[in-house]
Amino acid sequence: MTAGQAVGRSGGRTAVRTVVVSAKAAARWAAGHPWIYRTDVYAEPRDEPGIMAVTDRRGRHLGQALYSPTSEIRLRFLTRGTESVDAGWWSARIAAAAARRAGISDSAYRVVHAEGDGLPSLIVDRYGPWVVAQLLSAGLESVRDDVVAGIRSALDPEGILLRNDAGIRRHEGLPLEVVPAYGTVPDVVEVMENGIRYLAAPATGQKTGAFLDQRENRALVGAHVATGGRALDLFTYHGSFALHLARSAGQVLAVDSSEEALERGRQNATLNGLSNIAWREANAFDLLRELERQAERFDAIVLDPPAFAKTKDNLTRAVAGYKEINLRAMRLLAPNGVLFTCSCSYHLSRAAFADMLAAAAHDSGRRLELLRWTGAGRDHPEILNVPETGYLKGALLRAVE
Ligand code: SAH
Repeated sequence: MTAGQAVGRSGGRTAVRTVVVSAKAAARWAAGHPWIYRTDVYAEPRDEPGIMAVTDRRGRHLGQALYSPTSEIRLRFLTRGTESVDAGWWSARIAAAAARRAGISDSAYRVVHAEGDGLPSLIVDRYGPWVVAQLLSAGLESVRDDVVAGIRSALDPEGILLRNDAGIRRHEGLPLEVVPAYGTVPDVVEVMENGIRYLAAPATGQKTGAFLDQRENRALVGAHVATGGRALDLFTYHGSFALHLARSAGQVLAVDSSEEALERGRQNATLNGLSNIAWREANAFDLLRELERQAERFDAIVLDPPAFAKTKDNLTRAVAGYKEINLRAMRLLAPNGVLFTCSCSYHLSRAAFADMLAAAAHDSGRRLELLRWTGAGRDHPEILNVPETGYLKGALLRAVE
């Protein structure tokens, strides 16, 4: 196959389709970023999504990319080559991503972290023998059969569920839906993580059923809890941090604004034979104020809030929110108490997160030792050239007097 003649497959039909992009777009791809925006596209078919050959204006082949005709992100590069991107191609890439996770002994983890694994807009999470995947671009959706075949041959799961109900699919003109793609995936699956058992709901839970990105942080926190101490897990969801805390702590207070989430947390505690967790439905902001007023003290606190900064525009308010909960949590720490705090807002940079924590520490009047900076676990790889692959930042702090 010659340059510019890669084959784009769409719905079983094969055709040579090409997109021409600007020099700026070519330079961006050369620097390792796979996204090309609408404004950098000179010529495009404008019809159906699919896999396209991409060239510069002189016809020089740049690679092959997923094409989304209505999205601001028009192209997502898959390869610099001209090879056929078929089921075998997806299988090899997914198998390579799985091989990079060798040694993870937990039963649920991310196998493909989209751009972080060179597979833009594809998420593949493993829950024991089952797989929950997300196809997040129109280009990827158009080759769904090949992707599903690739997952099957690389991972040999008992079932594949597509959690294609993520809001960002709207930008791609795609429907929001949850569809079985192969076999059956149970409504509830039991996950084993660091020796803790918890239930995940692939079809209805947040993300693909659980917050897998915090897997390593939960282990880290579990290892830093004083035996017999008092712990607080705010924004607990199904209690996954609380369960890790409860193995060492004497008492754990687990808090969430959703009673439904807490109910699942209670079930998880029973599953682990843990009876030292109190589940409380409350707004974390109000509760922190109340606990501070009552001069309560905790030996370990976890703050894992939802993303306060959903867009760049509300960043200032979001930072104020993060600072408020962190400041109050710092004040609630017993001497030598540890605080694990994090932010999953992509728009809040690592540097801004660190500045916010420093400001909170300053105002808290406590001396906070930085034990560890963290991010998502290694199954959610961050690529320096592709900042969008990183969003979770965390810090483990200790109050030293
Ligand atoms: N720590 C969890 C994930 C937390 S997700 C884990 O590792 O699995 C964020 C949770 O915060 C959700 O369960 C949501 O219901 C809860 N939440 C959102 N706003 C809240 C608020 N103001 N007060 C308390 N909980 C809140």
